Order: sequence, then C-alpha cells, then structure tokens
Amino acid sequence: MTHSLHSLPFSNSFAALPDVFYSRVAPTPFQTKPTLIHFNAEAAALLDLDPAVQHDPQFVDVFSGRQQLPGMDPIAMLYAGHQFGHYVAQLGDGRAILLGETTNARGDKWEMQLKGSGLTPYSRDADGRAVLRSSIREYLCSEAMHGLGIPTTRALCLIGSADEVYREHIETGAMITRLAPSHVRFGSFEVFYYREQYDHIKTLADYVITQHYPELAEKPDRYLRFLQTVVERSAHLLAQWQAVGFAHGVMNTDNMSILGLTLDYGPFGFMEAYHAGFICNHSDHRGRYAFDQQPDIGLFNLSCLAQTLLPLIEFDAAKAALDSYATYFTQAYQSLMTQKLGFESSLQQIAELLKELLQQMQQSRVDYTIFFRALSGVTIDNAPSDVLLRDKFIDRERFDRWLTNYRACLRSQARSDAARRHAMNAANPKYILRNYLAQQVIDQTARGDYAEIERLLTVLRTPHAEHPELSHYAEAPPAGTDPIQVSCSS
Ligand code: AMP
Ligand code: MG
Repeated sequence: MTHSLHSLPFSNSFAALPDVFYSRVAPTPFQTKPTLIHFNAEAAALLDLDPAVQHDPQFVDVFSGRQQLPGMDPIAMLYAGHQFGHYVAQLGDGRAILLGETTNARGDKWEMQLKGSGLTPYSRDADGRAVLRSSIREYLCSEAMHGLGIPTTRALCLIGSADEVYREHIETGAMITRLAPSHVRFGSFEVFYYREQYDHIKTLADYVITQHYPELAEKPDRYLRFLQTVVERSAHLLAQWQAVGFAHGVMNTDNMSILGLTLDYGPFGFMEAYHAGFICNHSDHRGRYAFDQQPDIGLFNLSCLAQTLLPLIEFDAAKAALDSYATYFTQAYQSLMTQKLGFESSLQQIAELLKELLQQMQQSRVDYTIFFRALSGVTIDNAPSDVLLRDKFIDRERFDRWLTNYRACLRSQARSDAARRHAMNAANPKYILRNYLAQQVIDQTARGDYAEIERLLTVLRTPHAEHPELSHYAEAPPAGTDPIQVSCSS
C-alpha cells in the first residue's frame, strides 16, 4: 500500500520528550516561489509514499515549509559538540527542522527533517539557510553512500528557490528533506553532561534505546550495551569510509550519528589521487580531519560520548567498550581490503601488500577508485592488461615487484580469474561522487537543467555496475583542472 501526501501518518516521538531537548519552531518558507528540482522515488519508497505525490501541488509547499500536514510537530533539536577538538556548549539544529516521523508498513520509522528551512533558536549568527550548491552535494552524496552500502541519512527531495543567500558570493537557497530513523548525535548527550543534568542523559538514553535499540531495552546493563553497539557501528562506519576513500570534512561530535550513519554532508570528499593525508575540507587548516586521522578521531568522538554516559555506567566498563573500537575497526577494514584486493580469505601477507601498494599509489598519485577497479583485470598468468596498470606508476620496476608478489598470493588461493574479477567488481566501485562531477551537476542545475541529477544518480545508485553508456562518470577529473575547494561555508 502506498500513501498520498494526506494519508501519510505523521507523529513526532522526539517532540513528546520534555522540551529541554528541543525548541518548537516552524520552518520559514522561501520568499520566492520554490521549485521541485528532484524527487527521489527510492527514498519515497522507504516511506511507502506514492511517487505520484511529486505532482501534487501541495508537495512543494509541504517540503519547502509553507504548509504542514496533520501530525507534524516541527522542532529544532538541541545539542552541543566538540568542534575541531574544542567543546562548544550550545549548538543545535541551526538550519534544520524536524517535521516529524512516519512508520512504513515494514515497521521502519523515518524522521523527516527540512534542512535550510530558516532560523531557529540555535542559528547563532547564521541565516538558517542552505545554498543550492551544498544541498545538491548532500543530496547526491547520501544516495551515493547508500549505493556503496554505507549507512547514511537519505533524502526525499531537493527544492530550489530564487531567494538570495550570502556566502563568499551571492547564491540561491534550497532545501532538502532529510530522512533518518533518528537524527540524535553524540552532541545531543554532551550538552547535558556538561550542564551536569544527568537525569536528562538518562531520559535521552532511554528514548534512543526504546526507539532504536529495542533489543537492549530489557537488559539490566542496557546503557553499557548501547555504548558497545555505538562503538561497534561507528568502527564499522569508519572502516567503510576508509575502504572506499571517503572523508567526512567535519568529524565533530555534533556530526556523529548515534545510529552509526554518515550524517551532515558538508565539505566531504572522495579520495581521487591516493594520499594518506588527504584533507577534503579547505577550512581544516591543521588537518585534524585528514583522511588518515579519521579512524582515531572516531575513537576520540566515541570517548566524548562514553564520558557523557558515565553517570549511567561504570568507568571500567566504558573504557573496555572504547578499547574494543580498535579491534572492530581493524577487523572490518582488513576484511574490506581483503575483498578489494580479490582474496577469498585473509592471508598474512595482505597487510604488507597493501602497505606497499598504497605507498606506491601515493608516490605516483594514482587514482584510488580507478586503480582498484582496474586491478580486477589482473590474471594469474602474466597478461597484457598489466601494462594499463603499470603505466599508472612512476617507478614501474617497483610496481612490477609488487605485482609479482600479488600474483604469488593470488595463486595461493583457489579462485579462478573470472570468479575473482566478479568478486572484485562487487567490492570495488566503478563510480564515486567526485567533486568535479558534483560541480557539473551544480552548474547545470543552477542553469535550470535538472536532468543531470538523475543521470548521475543512475551510476551512483549502483556504483559497482558497469553502465557502459555512462562510463565517462568514472573518469578522473580532466588533467589540468584545478581541484575544487570545499569548505564549511554552505
Ligand atoms: P556543521 O559544521 O555544518 O555541522 O554546523 C555546525 C553548527 O552550525 C550546527 O549546529 C548547524 O546547525 C549550524 N549551522 C551551520 N550553518 C548554518 C546556517 N547557515 N544557519 C544556521 N545555522 C547553521
Ligand atoms: Mg552539523
């Protein structure tokens, strides 16, 4: 059964909590007439929403904050957070408004949040708006991450306007409707820890456990298990980010999801030419969130969360939960890299092979995604296809030595070339959201051509498939193009 706009059942369980956790605030509609730029039918299916609703004239009004549906109870959530290592006592949804939640026929609950919907009590000095550029980037990237099998928030639709929004330049404002089972962040707990309001921590933990970890609700040690589960999920998320070459540009604790989702897409980046110290956020001058720092930052953020739970759990138990992070991360990362390299099972030599390969890739600035995808073409016996691989490297003799070792390891496993190629293509995406591709979509959309979003989404949704007619989206940025700078300004 699918819903029309008006039959969609709405409630807001978060708004049923005491009002210390949020502020009631209605979205501020755009001043100019909003337009639907893209409707995400796949996300609509999560809500059992009939895709025909996009043609309902009220659709744009509802998801640009002009009109509310019965059962909606809009709020901005309060949180705090460690931003670039420093505790900031008061943050909160400064430009996002939680409209409410709906539960589909499978029993999955989805919160719907408008992002870019105007001022809230937590907007501080900012304007409550999101520009089209960053809204498109979030819209595309959340679908790309989902396509890659990485836990993430989703997005139902993208709505644009002619309203001017002031950043480094004048831009136009847009709104996306973000979907997640919960938008609670680590920072949602921190705010009450530092205010020494421990009862509120318990209330919030009980809410999150009941709503999102119901299997823990009856356990006497539920708060500890909750922490353990968040540790495990976050470790897994970081491993997936690392394996695919994704960097979150602002890994502050207020951008860390309590469900282990990728949350708050700002100056994110997919690694192109491999560089362990890749910094995707132009504003991150010290490289706190450099690619190779992110697993450790994940642990730092989890320690911030664990600290807030100390009123509810023993110190030693919390510490042990944090100590398990390294094991979870390493296991998950090694398993993913084992698959990327085409091995059926773990081998002692893999760590060394990988280290040497990444060093060579860094030395020769080899594109991470393109290389791993091409590696599936290697055959057990020497083959002409090697030329394509070795030509990517400056020190070809060094790469030849690596390839010889790699082949020796491959031979120790019983997989055929064809079976390995098949498995590797399922582990190594052909398509990622490269900054230059996102920028092309941004430029075309700004000119009024909305079709490019759907074209790019076609490959991002199934990034492991070949899509021969769209394979130009798999290419590295054209040589000589300046790298696109992305910063916190969005
Ligand atoms: P971010 O680094 O994007 O996660 O944002 C940090 C904090 O600033 C969050 O509390 C955001 O809600 C808030 N914020 C970011 N941009 C804006 C904006 N344009 N208007 C109001 N608040 C904002
Ligand atoms: Mg944020």
